[in-house]
Amino acid sequence: MKLIIASNNAHKLTEIKAILGDCFEEILSLREAGIDHETVEDGSTFMENAVKKAREIMELSGCCALADDSGLCVDALDGAPGIFSARFCGRHGDDPANNRLLLEKLRDCENRDAHYVCAIALAKPDGCVLEAEGYLYGQIAREEAGSNGFGYDPLFYLPDYGCTSAQISPQEKNRISHRAQALQRLLEKLKEEA
Ligand code: IMP
Repeated sequence: MKLIIASNNAHKLTEIKAILGDCFEEILSLREAGIDHETVEDGSTFMENAVKKAREIMELSGCCALADDSGLCVDALDGAPGIFSARFCGRHGDDPANNRLLLEKLRDCENRDAHYVCAIALAKPDGCVLEAEGYLYGQIAREEAGSNGFGYDPLFYLPDYGCTSAQISPQEKNRISHRAQALQRLLEKLKEEA
């Protein structure tokens, strides 16, 4: 069976191939599969967006398709930025501005608890969709530290490590990340089915 990943992000592809590689004959990015498609992410949850993306690519390709949606949820902000994580500041993908806005919103806030969420959906040609989620818990630091990772990592403090997720190695981040945990849960579901 062939699996198409609803992404062209090389980092995500490597991570997915490392965990699900044994379950599929071939794992292809959208570009490798010759698909040029942008899903409108208008769901109200991470999982709704992931399922919508996976279903659209499955329908376009006729193959199994996997999609993920992830973001940061901050307790004191009632779960924001949540599904709007990539465009918290109003512009898509402006990580420095997103981080500045997050610090500003939490300036007088003692409760810094937060977690990353990753929702993964695998849509099959028979219409069945497998869903899995993973979480990484931490706190929002008062200033940025570290240059690894991306997005909110310089502010995402991991109490167990005593540093931010931008200060641990990429290998360690990939081992503990919300995405890795969601992929592991998906792998368990695939194995149960086999
Ligand atoms: P995506 O769904 O993987 O594209 O992630 C959406 C947004 O959530 C990113 O643009 C980041 O702002 C944030 N995000 C998701 N995962 C991480 C992470 O592991 N580190 C830092 N930021 C993340």
